Amino acid sequence: MKITLKLLGDIADEITEKLKDSVGGIFHCPVEIKVNFSDLARAYDPERKQYFSSKLLASLGKSEREERIVGIADVDLYVPRLKFVFGEADLVSGTAIVSLYRLRQEYYGLALDEALFLERATKEIVHEVGHTFGLGHCPDNKCVMHFSNSLADTDLKEEHFCSECRPKIIL
Ligand SMILES: [Zn+2]
Ligand SMILES: [Zn+2]
Repeated sequence: MKITLKLLGDIADEITEKLKDSVGGIFHCPVEIKVNFSDLARAYDPERKQYFSSKLLASLGKSEREERIVGIADVDLYVPRLKFVFGEADLVSGTAIVSLYRLRQEYYGLALDEALFLERATKEIVHEVGHTFGLGHCPDNKCVMHFSNSLADTDLKEEHFCSECRPKIIL
């Protein structure tokens, strides 16, 4: 298996390189970084001042066999009826999308913490990749597949799959 991280818009190399290492370390597979040539602006809702997640997800295309694609966006994502989403996944195409926007301490008026930011981003990416394998939300609050209602949930869970979820990731 390989994971392709597709960047939607500008994201600093120092961030993507670190995510490449952390995600690759968890799945024990190669991770490739690509730039996705989709137009972020087309998914923008001027009333909500947010970007429609599902539209961007669809723009990522379909993954190849043995591949998982995760779009990385540094904008605020939403789906109708929810205030925002950290990410979204599509089982059929093997693709997912993650937003970095609400993962930084600065977003909440707190002091910058890059290590924490990268940890959260890794968990969100691993979680969405888990969904592309058909995994649902896990009741174990330490498992990466536990649902994050807020960042407190994200911070509580670990970057790894629990012993129930892990075997369902067929590499
Ligand atoms: Zn989920
Ligand atoms: Zn689990």
